[in-house]
Amino acid sequence: MTSCKANRRHRINMTARYNFSAGPSMLPKEVLEQIHREVLDYNSTGSSILELGHRTQAFSDLRDECKERIRSLLNVPDNYDVIFCHGGGRMQFAMTPLNLLGAASKASYIVTGTWSDMAKLEAEKFVHVDVPFRSRGERTPRIEELEVPEDSAYLYHCDNETIHGVEFSAAPVSDAWKNVPLAADFSSSFMSRPIEVSSYGLIWAAAQKNFGIPGLTIAIIRRDLEKLAGMNMPYLLNYDSYVRNDSVANTPPIFQIYVSTLMARWIERKGGVEAMDEAARERSRMIYELIDENPKLYSSVVDPGSRSRMNVVFRLPSSEMDAFFVREAAAFGLDNLAGHHSIGGIRASLYNAMPVEGAEKLAEFMKEFALRHRL
Ligand code: PMP
Repeated sequence: MTSCKANRRHRINMTARYNFSAGPSMLPKEVLEQIHREVLDYNSTGSSILELGHRTQAFSDLRDECKERIRSLLNVPDNYDVIFCHGGGRMQFAMTPLNLLGAASKASYIVTGTWSDMAKLEAEKFVHVDVPFRSRGERTPRIEELEVPEDSAYLYHCDNETIHGVEFSAAPVSDAWKNVPLAADFSSSFMSRPIEVSSYGLIWAAAQKNFGIPGLTIAIIRRDLEKLAGMNMPYLLNYDSYVRNDSVANTPPIFQIYVSTLMARWIERKGGVEAMDEAARERSRMIYELIDENPKLYSSVVDPGSRSRMNVVFRLPSSEMDAFFVREAAAFGLDNLAGHHSIGGIRASLYNAMPVEGAEKLAEFMKEFALRHRL
C-alpha cells in the first residue's frame, strides 16, 4: 500500500458499520439510545413508552411537540395543518385523489419513476389522469416542458424517487397553473432540506427514511383543501377526520410519533433542515464524484441536474459485478447497497442519520474497488 493510500485509510474507521438501506433506514445512535432507555421508563414516569395511552396528557404533549417542531423546522405557514396518518406512503396514493378531487374530473401527474407511476395508477381508479411529463427515472422536467390543464384538481409529483435516485431541485410551480394546487410525495426527502410549504396544497411523507420509522405518515395540508372529500368518504381516508381530532381519529401510532419527535429534536440540535441539506450535499457529492471519475466501471442514467442527494443509484458493467460489489462492500462494513429488486444495480441511501464518515468510507471503498478492477 502506498503512503498516500495509507493516509486515506488512516482516516477511515475500519470497524464501523454503516447501513445504506433505502428505508427503514439508519437512526442516529443518540436517538436509539434514548429509545432504549425509554422503552423501560418513559420521561421518568416509571412506565414504558410502549404503554403510553393516546388519551393521556403525556401523549397530547408528545403529539403537540412533534407537530410544533415540524412547523418550526419547516416554517409551516398558519393556514396549513400538520396531521399524523397511518397506512404509509401507499395509503396516500389513494387519499390524495379521494381528498383533493372535489368536483373536478381530472388530475395531473408528473411521472419521474416508480413511485409517482404507482401514485398515478392508484389515482386512475378514481379520476381521469393527465400526464404532462413522463421519464423512466432519468430526470425531472423543466418547467417550460410542462402543460397543466387549468381544470386539473391538482398537480402531483414525487419530490425524490427513492428507487431511481431522481430528485426535484425546486417545486414545479408556474403562473400558468397557479390555481392548481401542488400535491407532493416527500417520503424520501422530508426534513432533509427547507421546503417552501406555501408553494404546495398538500405535502405528505412516510417517516421511515429521514424522520423515523414505518407506521407514521406526516401530512401538511392547506386548510381550504381539508373538507373537499365530504362526509361519505370512509372515516380514516378523510384528512378532515385527522384534522378535527388533532390526529387522534382513532388509536394513533404513538411509538412512531415518539420516534419522530426524537428525530425532530435531533435535527434541531444539529442545526435544522439547512444543516441536514448541507450534510446531504456533501455525502452525495463524494459518491457522484467517484462515479464520474470512473465511467468505465460505474455508470448512472440520471441526468446530473436531477441527481438525488438521498439515493445515489448506479450500476457496474454486469449484474455479476454488482453482486460482487455488494458482497465486498458488506465485508468492509457497508451494508444494504443492493439496488431495488425492480431495477438492480447499486443504491446508496444517504439519509439524515448517515454520518459523513459513512459516505467517506463508501467513497474510499469505491476508489479501491476501481483500482482493483480498472477496465
Ligand atoms: N413514496 C416513496 C417516494 C417511497 O420511497 C415509498 C416507499 N419506499 C413509498 C412512497 C411507499 O411508502 P410505504 O411503503 O410507506 O407505503
